[in-house]
Amino acid sequence: MRRPIIAGNWKMNNTKAQTYALLNDLVPLVKDAEAEVVICVPYTSIWAAGDAIKGTNIHLGAENVHWAEKGAFTGEISADMLKEQGVEYVIIGHSERRQYFGETDQTVNMRVKAALAHGLKPIICVGETLEEREGGKVEEVLVRQTTEAFKEIDKDELDNIVIAYEPVWAIGTGKTATAQDANDTIAIIRGTIAKLYCEKCADKIRIQYGGSMNPKNAKELMAMPQIDGGLIGGASLKAVDFSQVVKYNA
Ligand code: PEP
Repeated sequence: MRRPIIAGNWKMNNTKAQTYALLNDLVPLVKDAEAEVVICVPYTSIWAAGDAIKGTNIHLGAENVHWAEKGAFTGEISADMLKEQGVEYVIIGHSERRQYFGETDQTVNMRVKAALAHGLKPIICVGETLEEREGGKVEEVLVRQTTEAFKEIDKDELDNIVIAYEPVWAIGTGKTATAQDANDTIAIIRGTIAKLYCEKCADKIRIQYGGSMNPKNAKELMAMPQIDGGLIGGASLKAVDFSQVVKYNA
């Protein structure tokens, strides 16, 4: 059995004061959730978020991590720095980073290695663009992104990794993949893990869906056998909406 994991991706939203306000509302709303709950917040909110969720069932995440230990990388943050702040999860390879900040399959892999080496749990994002979908390239893209992200990653690390399938055309657009489509596409990713590692490894790894997931569609998506959770952007910025996604069965 794979425990569902619902993670919020705040992106570039929420000041310190807004972080406290949102989390003070969220904590009581999700306290008895069955799913694992994660919030991935901007670097500047990490300390405040950690403080606000201390002793609760909410896990702390960051939105990116650099691959180097330390050094001349102005504006970057290392795995060590995140770990020291109590961060447990880190989003890697989000499509916005691939699209706007030159993230490649290779840099995704470097970040994944750095995160794991420091005891952080990567949430690795993969997903096709609309052009790739319309060009019939979904499988090719997902197999490539998954294979490259997991290059030289040991089988023993798989329990510490979550994959997020995020079709780029569904992120922040209000367009959701149909539950069946999301399920079938995630099956391709799981099949890739089976080929790279083993069937049992593929059965165990958690794969989220992300892309305009909200309180209205969460139940249907989460009912699909391949979907083990959600990576939630817009709907994670309102405590009530996020809590309703977290408690998709209520
Ligand atoms: C995301 O940023 O990972 C995401 C899925 O965003 P949204 O839910 O807003 O589509």
